[in-house]
Amino acid sequence: MADNLESIYCPACGKRMKKIYMPEQKINLDVCINGCGGIYFDNREFLKVDEPNEDITPLIEIFEGKTFKKTYETETRICPVCGMKMVKNFASAKHEIQVDECYSCGGKFLDNQELEKIRAQYTTEEERAADVIKKLYDTVGLELQDFQQKYDERMANPALATIIAKGAAKHNAGRFEKIEEETEQAVKKYLNNNKKFEN
Ligand SMILES: [Zn+2]
Ligand SMILES: [Zn+2]
Repeated sequence: MADNLESIYCPACGKRMKKIYMPEQKINLDVCINGCGGIYFDNREFLKVDEPNEDITPLIEIFEGKTFKKTYETETRICPVCGMKMVKNFASAKHEIQVDECYSCGGKFLDNQELEKIRAQYTTEEERAADVIKKLYDTVGLELQDFQQKYDERMANPALATIIAKGAAKHNAGRFEKIEEETEQAVKKYLNNNKKFEN
């Protein structure tokens, strides 16, 4: 989705949000600077700021020395762009921080401080993706002990590695639990179909 240019109202506290231009990413973020300190991201904007090597100086500067209104993170929020109910999902395979996502437009809302916490979880995009793959493997592996394959062996199989990597890519783009289940099923299907070649 193109950068949303109209000013929007914070889904957590209702205050009008301020556009902050991010020169490195060439995007505008919506920041609740006069309310709760939350940030709204249009579709895909979040992926440009979620690693520690991605520069977010304008955000750090605007937040510096300010205190923000407390919000209730468990409340259901409404997407300020399209009016749909947002869904709470974990931001990464660590399952530590929940963010609000809009399945209609792909927008995300983060409460104050959540971006900093998410950025501190992994050093690189690769590390983040590897953790997703490992977690998928842990889930799938338990049920497939018969095959007694190690993670490396499985990833050395190009067909299987492709299935897992596809799942990981979608997983990173959001919609966590559903994608994990889909990937798990794809892996199982593959393994079942190829059982006879694996002994
Ligand atoms: Zn707010
Ligand atoms: Zn939306």
